[in-house]
Amino acid sequence: MDAAQKTENRSKAGGTGYLFTDGIVVTSAPDGPVWAPGDVAVRNGRIIYAGAALTPARREKYFREGLQHWPLGGRVIMPGLINTHTHAAMSLLRGYAEDRPLLEWLERLVFPFESRLSGEAVYWGTLVSCMEMIRGGITTLNDMYFFMEDAAKAVADSGMRAVLGWGLSGIDAQSAERALAQAEEFYQKWNGAAGGRIRVCMAPHATYTCPPAFLAQVVERAAALGAGLHIHVAESPEECRRHQEQFGETEVATLERLGAWELPAVAAHCVQVTSGDIRILARHGVAVSHNPTSNLKLGNGIAPVQEMLDAGITVALGTDGPASNNNQDLFQEMRLAAIAQKGRTHDPTVLPAPQVVAMATQWGAKALRWPEIGALKVGNWADLVILRKPMSHRWPAWDVWSDLVYACHGGDVQDVLVAGQVILKNGQFTALDEGWVLAAAQMVLEAVKPPQRNVAWPLPKRE
Ligand SMILES: [Zn+2]
Repeated sequence: MDAAQKTENRSKAGGTGYLFTDGIVVTSAPDGPVWAPGDVAVRNGRIIYAGAALTPARREKYFREGLQHWPLGGRVIMPGLINTHTHAAMSLLRGYAEDRPLLEWLERLVFPFESRLSGEAVYWGTLVSCMEMIRGGITTLNDMYFFMEDAAKAVADSGMRAVLGWGLSGIDAQSAERALAQAEEFYQKWNGAAGGRIRVCMAPHATYTCPPAFLAQVVERAAALGAGLHIHVAESPEECRRHQEQFGETEVATLERLGAWELPAVAAHCVQVTSGDIRILARHGVAVSHNPTSNLKLGNGIAPVQEMLDAGITVALGTDGPASNNNQDLFQEMRLAAIAQKGRTHDPTVLPAPQVVAMATQWGAKALRWPEIGALKVGNWADLVILRKPMSHRWPAWDVWSDLVYACHGGDVQDVLVAGQVILKNGQFTALDEGWVLAAAQMVLEAVKPPQRNVAWPLPKRE
């Protein structure tokens, strides 16, 4: 009997759950207790116990109630990781445009490719990314793209949890109105869908693709719907210079003036923020999604994460899309976030490992205003990750926080559950056929890709 079959049989039998025993239980970061040995009990998709190893009598009681025994044998069990900024369908563009500055990369290479995409392409591109993320222990993503109904179907099929926003850019009045109507329809149809695993926000792309009047409209519409906001902010020096020249203020200040920060908001990047911007973001409770790989790869710099944390801002982690990273491995992102911040501040004590794990878990949940995920607490959704036993690259794992941030990578993930459903078991998908999905995605990619890849090495000479 395979895992999917077992899952199905269990739900037919009344949908109980699991008792995970004798693991290293990382309940919550940065300061939640770590139980070693510890047990976790899950029933009907929720966590009903996370703590020290139970007595044989209490374990027996759970087994009698129908929980299935899942011995961990000293492996780490932790909250599923939360990727607070990505464009999942951009797996289609992974490796397509490399070694270019943000605006040139976007305007000359990415946007022309994207104009050729179809809903079908977005479905398969998103599903490929979901598989990648699940393999790396990510259980929730915050995604911004277009053809979002197709992206939502892919997320639903993958078993993951997500906040999805239809990426908006406001051009002329007519197309702006159409885009807004589309985003609103998407909200009505998909917010709360897939058993509550999918939530919808409004996602104006950035200040350089959305003029102020359009942004004001988006903010008004989001407020009326009760939706949150997801937007790129102060990502590159060039974009910020142009904005300052045109408007005489920073992007963060413009967005404040337009009322954007009155909404529950995730501001992606915030690399080039000023101390004044940091004060504004803190004052309004704006959460920041820090994407160190993408920021460094596009030559945009390193965000002042420590200063933002000092100001009381919730800083979470994101991978950004596969076209600018090129992977969606949040373990690598944790390691780089810590290391880059220490290098930037010349202070190895900043961003200690437990805080970095918080950025990828509990603070991610806080950023997405989803308090029932991000920590192994009674009542929370059972979004769980179980790691493999440490191989040579992790041995001897003196300390679990150091293991997670500095030694692990996505390949160390063995099992993944979302809302108590096993979606990855012993490195195998329970409901998806990876080879088949990749073959289907390849067929769709062949149909939409540009006739020739118009970036090649060596790059043109710099002036
Ligand atoms: Zn992005």
